[in-house]
Amino acid sequence: MRKNVVVGNWKMNTTVAEAVELASAIAERIGSGEAGCEIGIAPPFVSLTEVGKVVGQSGIMLAAQNCHFESDGAFTGEVSVRMLEAAGCSCVILGHSERRQYFGETNAIVNRKVRKALDGGLKVILCVGETLEQRQQGVTEDIVTTQVREGLDGVDDVSRVVIAYEPVWAIGTGKTATSQQAQEVHASIRETVREMFGEAAAAEMRIQYGGSVKPANAAELFAMPDIDGGLIGGASLKADDFIAIVEAAR
Ligand code: PEP
Repeated sequence: MRKNVVVGNWKMNTTVAEAVELASAIAERIGSGEAGCEIGIAPPFVSLTEVGKVVGQSGIMLAAQNCHFESDGAFTGEVSVRMLEAAGCSCVILGHSERRQYFGETNAIVNRKVRKALDGGLKVILCVGETLEQRQQGVTEDIVTTQVREGLDGVDDVSRVVIAYEPVWAIGTGKTATSQQAQEVHASIRETVREMFGEAAAAEMRIQYGGSVKPANAAELFAMPDIDGGLIGGASLKADDFIAIVEAAR
């Protein structure tokens, strides 16, 4: 039986003080993060340490939004897996469409990051999803399958991986995939995981949906058989909305 996982991706929002305030509001009201649903928040790098102190004992998972694929060295502006762990992170979001779109991350780069993060002991949320143009061309399944295959290439153990299906056209646009549209892609992702890692790994793999999830649509999406929670952008910046979404996943 898979446990739903709901993670808030705060993107490039909140100062340290604002992040601490938001994390406190969430931690106070959510109680034990483990009850029925795994819960995580991904603040900006500079807030990780302070937010880590707030969520410390709450069971809420502290996640980063990115990491580098090398261990350390002359990579100005980058952040390593070891730095994230020292800051209290247990998880990292990789391959987000904004990283792919604005920062040129290819499947090969994402794969290097995935392997480095897993080798370093972190959990990974691997984001995949098609653009509007790709959906209109009817190549959604091809694109997503390739992202999953190339993103997880060379990984032996996927037990610390969660996949987030995030159609690019639904991120931050207010347009959500219908629960049927999302379910179709989630089922095909699970099939790809089965082909790559076998029956048991596929049955256990959590596949989150992301793309304009809100309190009003969360329950319907999470009720689908292959949707195991959500990666939440905009709505995770309001404690009330994020908590309502977590409640829908519990
Ligand atoms: C995201 O960026 O991961 C996301 C799903 O954003 P939003 O919920 O704002 O669409």
